[in-house]
Amino acid sequence: MEALLKTEPERGLTYSQDTPEPELAADEALVEITTTAICGTDVHIYEWDEGAANFPIQFPRIVGHEASGTVRAVGSAVSRVSVGDRVAFETHIPCNHCYACRTGNAHNCENLQLFGIDHDGAFATLATAPESVLFKLPERMSFETGALLEPAGVAMHALQRSGIRPGDTVAVTGCGPIGLLTCKLALIAGASRVLAFDIDSARLEAARDLGVTAINPGSGDRALLAHEANPARGGVDLLVEASGAADVFEWALPMIRREGTLVTVGHPGRPVPIDITQSVNKLGLTIRGSFGRHMWKTWTALAALLEAERIDLEAFITHRFAMPDFDSAFDAIRHGAIKVLLDPSR
Ligand SMILES: [Zn+2]
Ligand SMILES: [Zn+2]
Repeated sequence: MEALLKTEPERGLTYSQDTPEPELAADEALVEITTTAICGTDVHIYEWDEGAANFPIQFPRIVGHEASGTVRAVGSAVSRVSVGDRVAFETHIPCNHCYACRTGNAHNCENLQLFGIDHDGAFATLATAPESVLFKLPERMSFETGALLEPAGVAMHALQRSGIRPGDTVAVTGCGPIGLLTCKLALIAGASRVLAFDIDSARLEAARDLGVTAINPGSGDRALLAHEANPARGGVDLLVEASGAADVFEWALPMIRREGTLVTVGHPGRPVPIDITQSVNKLGLTIRGSFGRHMWKTWTALAALLEAERIDLEAFITHRFAMPDFDSAFDAIRHGAIKVLLDPSR
């Protein structure tokens, strides 16, 4: 079958047309992939930059994890999905036995395996995954929207963890797909004002199109701007960090008002120094990390918004490529693309 693999610890991926079809374990389903999307993590793996170190990979590995398709076969122990079901993949494969799994936090399992990193992924004609990570697509949902549930869920989960309240002013650093989706969902959640920060003009334009205030952080005094956006409160109520840039915290933390909240979603490629006394304790900040999506609170909330047509994920798609053109797809992301789809050849 066709597949995109990481075969060596260096830049790039390998395209192959004769990769063996995956073997089906008893608890797994075999899915014929219809649509995949490229994630920021895939970009780090492709570029093999400092961010790739966050996700150690064994070679060779079929990469890619944002995907949708149709179940073609099921293992002997599978009971929840059937042949013909249209599904999307949750990337976090839980053990279903540890404390986190048993107490409603399977997305942060102690023995977590990541689809497309620890387990062969979705940039292929066929992929297998445990039935426990398959989300059945609602009848009217397109495969393209289905493939974007995973990244949109990252934004949804960040807001679910943020304690956002109607009337809040929200700052979002990074206007890639996750940042933009966070902006959109913050508006739906009742934010009175959203300030979106990025250095790329195409991404700032996309943020502006969502109806938020788009700011290039290179221009002017950002902390002052955040204060001016929310003078009655002395800063923003909530900051969602979605850029993954290590140096953002230095200028973005002072934008948060006293007793405000920071939710970190982006993964910096190195440790970030923070002055706990001055920047956290004395301001009474709440800092929450957010990893993946809650199973299945995040997915069902997102599906409900999609069903009610409150959000349109396909609007975030700017490019579509066939899998053999993967180099052009990754190149598009370097040049301001928002969401880039990669489909298996037909
Ligand atoms: Zn992803
Ligand atoms: Zn577990």
